[in-house]
Amino acid sequence: MRYISTRGQAPALNFEDVLLAGLATDGGLYVPENLPRFTQEEIASWAGLPYHELAFRVMRPFVTGSIPDADFKKILEETYGVFSHNAVAPLRQLNGNEWVLELFHGPTLAFKDFALQLLGRLLDYVLEKRGERVVIVGATSGDTGSAAIEGCKHCENVDIFILHPHNRVSEVQRRQMTTLFGENIHNIAIEGNFDDCQEMVKASFADQSFLKGTRLVAVNSINWARIMAQIVYYFHASLQLGGPARSVSFSVPTGNFGDIFAGYLARNMGLPINQLIVATNRNDILHRFMSGNQYVKETLHATLSPSMDIMVSSNFERLLFDLHGRNGAAIAGLMDSFKQGGGFSVEQERWTEARKLFDSLAVDDAQTCETIAEVYEQTGELLDPHTAIGVKAARECRRSLDIPMVILGTAHPVKFPDAVQKAGVGKALELPTHLSDLFERDERCTVLPNDLKAVQAFVSQHGNRGKPL
Ligand SMILES: *Cc1c(COP(=O)(O)O)cnc(C)c1O
Repeated sequence: MRYISTRGQAPALNFEDVLLAGLATDGGLYVPENLPRFTQEEIASWAGLPYHELAFRVMRPFVTGSIPDADFKKILEETYGVFSHNAVAPLRQLNGNEWVLELFHGPTLAFKDFALQLLGRLLDYVLEKRGERVVIVGATSGDTGSAAIEGCKHCENVDIFILHPHNRVSEVQRRQMTTLFGENIHNIAIEGNFDDCQEMVKASFADQSFLKGTRLVAVNSINWARIMAQIVYYFHASLQLGGPARSVSFSVPTGNFGDIFAGYLARNMGLPINQLIVATNRNDILHRFMSGNQYVKETLHATLSPSMDIMVSSNFERLLFDLHGRNGAAIAGLMDSFKQGGGFSVEQERWTEARKLFDSLAVDDAQTCETIAEVYEQTGELLDPHTAIGVKAARECRRSLDIPMVILGTAHPVKFPDAVQKAGVGKALELPTHLSDLFERDERCTVLPNDLKAVQAFVSQHGNRGKPL
């Protein structure tokens, strides 16, 4: 499989190189040159497969030429073997034909484990083969950091540095990162906000001289391997609900548009999907585009669903590329005008096409709390605030009660006690067994000033399993 850039000016890469690349050299994002397409018979024949075997069948075309089948199978079996639920991604019924796909049974209790457990193992496999080492520098406002560290903690060939804003992530989220020790794990608390952290990561990609030749790898969802891993659970859910003979709808709590873009790809690969609902919080740039053809940057609001607090959705460029007939020059132009003026609209027919593919809703904090309380009362299920946004949007945007509606359950409620408390649900939140002593564990973290040079000096002093690069 070959991968091309959404801006059309960077060289095509194979899977191995796309795994190790961040942004393309032209500033674009990599996408498969040709999407594989499965027949209904083929998809139907996968019913009842264990998760890792389904994952092998769905993802195999994407890695062909880079990873032999036997090795890929082994990696996938290991990856999904660390999940604490036998079904890996179980479906739980809320109402008649309404289901939550529980994607929070991985080590860090959010769906990001599906991709980052795999990414860590893929990186180590490819690097071992090449005899190379890499450094990861990532920024997190919460879930990505812990999932990335968990995914890379056993990697022999990766040193990982995760920047988080000092005193601005929840205690559970911080402890999930800082209580993991290893000579290749480095937590840095920046005396600044999340944007400051993210700017430092961007600046480090732009000028990598401080790495003395070591390659820098991206772990955010611009990395194609993350999107690829997320396609699998759309197939998994559908097969459990009578697909592909029957069509299924999905409502997806959305921030950077990575998770729902995977659903869009699943549909293009032959999975019958009826509706794809973009569920956002008050940071609603995607809802404003879907409802009014305005992709315009606004100020950031802190909400009860912090993992969806974004001003722009990085993966949206991948959809725009398809909407524009895969014309890289057109995308480069749009992104330029976004950078200059902070917004754009697309031509009417392209927007109409987008509206055929997606419905959307923005849900504020008060509605989020109402939904948590309502669902708890109706079913006894306690939702995390992100999943609650998905449920609210599913209920508002649903077109047919006969078609099963699957809401992606993106996190475990124990990660977001504030929202649960504000919702007035009196149920005690308990950490799962593997994290039950989280609050007693020792922490390891370095606090650094909001200063790029200081951070880069720290990375070059510790980037080789704790020793200088
Ligand atoms: C990351 C995250 C999201 C948003 O996913 P995107 O792929 O960025 O759209 C939603 N919910 C939770 C809990 C998350 O951690």
